[in-house]
Amino acid sequence: MPSMVQSDIAANLARVERRISEACAGTGRRRDEITLVAVSKTRSAEQIRSAYRCGLRHFGENRIEEAETKVPELRTDFADDPATWHMVGHVQSRKAKRAATLADVIHSVDSLRLARRLDRFAAQTGKRLPILIEVNVSGEASKYGYPAWDATTTAAFVSQAREFEALTHLQILGLMTMAPIVANPELARPVFRQLVCVRDALRDQAPFSAWSELSMGMTDDFEVAIEEGATMVRIGRAIFGPRPHQEEGF
Ligand SMILES: *Cc1c(COP(=O)(O)O)cnc(C)c1O
Repeated sequence: MPSMVQSDIAANLARVERRISEACAGTGRRRDEITLVAVSKTRSAEQIRSAYRCGLRHFGENRIEEAETKVPELRTDFADDPATWHMVGHVQSRKAKRAATLADVIHSVDSLRLARRLDRFAAQTGKRLPILIEVNVSGEASKYGYPAWDATTTAAFVSQAREFEALTHLQILGLMTMAPIVANPELARPVFRQLVCVRDALRDQAPFSAWSELSMGMTDDFEVAIEEGATMVRIGRAIFGPRPHQEEGF
């Protein structure tokens, strides 16, 4: 029954909003500094419509194939008051065109090769595509993203970052990271702090001063991420409930 689904989502969303507000209040931040991206992977179009009716306007998907089955239809449904579609999962370079066509923002740009392809397709559509660069700040081998977990790797990333500035059809909003899955959210805090350090290392260099967004924090650790400076939190389970099939690492 869709109405039950919607009331569950409404109650969950109210709890998430309260938690976001408390994290903001605790650190003197304003709620409007933070974009709540509802991660809708594995959810049906009907569930996403319910979430939209609860007021959500930012949705995140992590697989191109799945997004292609939902996003075009929902864009039509939401035409009067459009939602913003975020691609938050790994994008293979050969799927760059599909990603650039589907998404309004891509959080997970983890190579120059992918960025160059996205830039080329964005040029064809005549738009500037907003992206974030994914950074691996934890050092976990399983993670995607540019290595930037210590001074040496961060310096190497900062010098590489110049190459992104040449891609004029991309609008680089900032940095994204995936924290390790940990039982205690406090254990993710140093990872979020490290992303802030990388952003600050870039900020000191003039061309990167606009890279201000920090996409970090998920269901289990978003308060800590907000305390550390997140401007985009990507939240799935706390809004939609447990996923039908929990995927490893996601
Ligand atoms: C699934 C996913 C999320 C949301 O995870 P939850 O634990 O459900 O909040 C955030 N970011 C990425 C990249 C994801 O794949």
